[in-house]
Amino acid sequence: MNFAQFLSGKLLLPHEIPLSTPTIAYLLKNNQIAELPSITQHHKRYQCQRCCNNNQQLFANLPCARCQTEHVYCRHCIATGRVLACEKLIRWQGEKPRWTSQETPCSWDGSLTKHQQHAAEAIQEALKTNQQELLIWAVCGAGKTEMLFPAINFAIKENKRVCLATPRADVVRELLPRMKQAFPQTEIEALYADSPDRTEIGQLILSTTHQLIRYQQAFDLMIIDEIDAFPFHHDPTLPLLANRACQKHATRIYLTATPRPVQQKKIARKKLPAIFVPIRYHGHPLPIPQEKIEFHLRKKLDRKKVPHAFQQFINTRSTTRQLLIFVPTISLLEKVRSFCPAETVHAGDPDRKEKVNLFREKKIDILITTTILERGVTFPSVDVVVLDAGHQVFDEAALVQIAGRAGRSPNDPTGNVIFIHQGKTEQIEQAIAQINMMNKKGAKL
Ligand SMILES: [Zn+2]
Ligand SMILES: [Zn+2]
Repeated sequence: MNFAQFLSGKLLLPHEIPLSTPTIAYLLKNNQIAELPSITQHHKRYQCQRCCNNNQQLFANLPCARCQTEHVYCRHCIATGRVLACEKLIRWQGEKPRWTSQETPCSWDGSLTKHQQHAAEAIQEALKTNQQELLIWAVCGAGKTEMLFPAINFAIKENKRVCLATPRADVVRELLPRMKQAFPQTEIEALYADSPDRTEIGQLILSTTHQLIRYQQAFDLMIIDEIDAFPFHHDPTLPLLANRACQKHATRIYLTATPRPVQQKKIARKKLPAIFVPIRYHGHPLPIPQEKIEFHLRKKLDRKKVPHAFQQFINTRSTTRQLLIFVPTISLLEKVRSFCPAETVHAGDPDRKEKVNLFREKKIDILITTTILERGVTFPSVDVVVLDAGHQVFDEAALVQIAGRAGRSPNDPTGNVIFIHQGKTEQIEQAIAQINMMNKKGAKL
């Protein structure tokens, strides 16, 4: 085994390394690996060095059979195997790994639009100049994966290591075949819970943010997709893990179609360099949502009565396009189905993948969904209705993403987007304003 390729840039427990105890002892003696405490204590506060957790409520005591005593352990990273305070983490400190040298790693022969090209050059330039951060604000349907190819090509050629991290396993699964096709000679790994594509020697890693728990100072180029969906609020350790996985000089590229207000402020104050890609790859503007007020909408939905605005739309809708109906709660799925016969889908639905595939294959005409389909999915020709668009689950970013499902294909670049609400919220206004702003920027180019 090539130890450097396997161990470099990782932080692992001994049982995660397929080496015998004598081999580990030998590498330790030769200073090729180092042992680090897994749980440290500072001012009476524990810190898990493996998952970056420092929430004290997530530490507990457990008897240790090996030491015949009790130790503290971390409950936060228990899903990836328990770590007791007496266990050491192992870090590689031998020579840097070398991957197969390649003159032109990228074999993608498509071409970038002018706007994709502009972003692609900025990303490459950021990497070449060791710029720390760059945000790419690209509208839904801008074709962001292709914009990354030139920088990844450069990085691979320079024997650098690249990570593309995303909050969602679906996206990792979808990206793997595309990346393998674009970089056929490169060691690529896809990491998500139970992923079968682990070789442990990837030069290009596609990973959910959770899986970064195994990395430390590994990557020269860290691309974080959907930075706005990055669960900063739910799990504060994830940004720490992403940061730890970066080398000191690393360049971080953030991709988003809908930056959060804090990110927008940073961009406005020039604290975060940003490049706009305000136009879709097919060159057409984003569909502008129409908002329609319906009095007593929530009461009507609750009583399974069809809202006027909805009925009106259904009566006149084009039969060539499919229809996606977004509702704020699971309980509304069945209620809407009582006046609009259709398939339903939500996060916990065991047939979720199959239903989405059937919809993609146009075997289902209408799909009623919760926000799970707000992003990351592309259907070529759909209209979109949001029922109760004023509900709190539909924030500005969600509404912009939902509207972004329409008009994705060059063969049908328009599409209707209808927000039905019982009183316009600030979020609805801001979402429509954001779409108008991007279209204006796009028109100027
Ligand atoms: Zn012990
Ligand atoms: Zn932990």
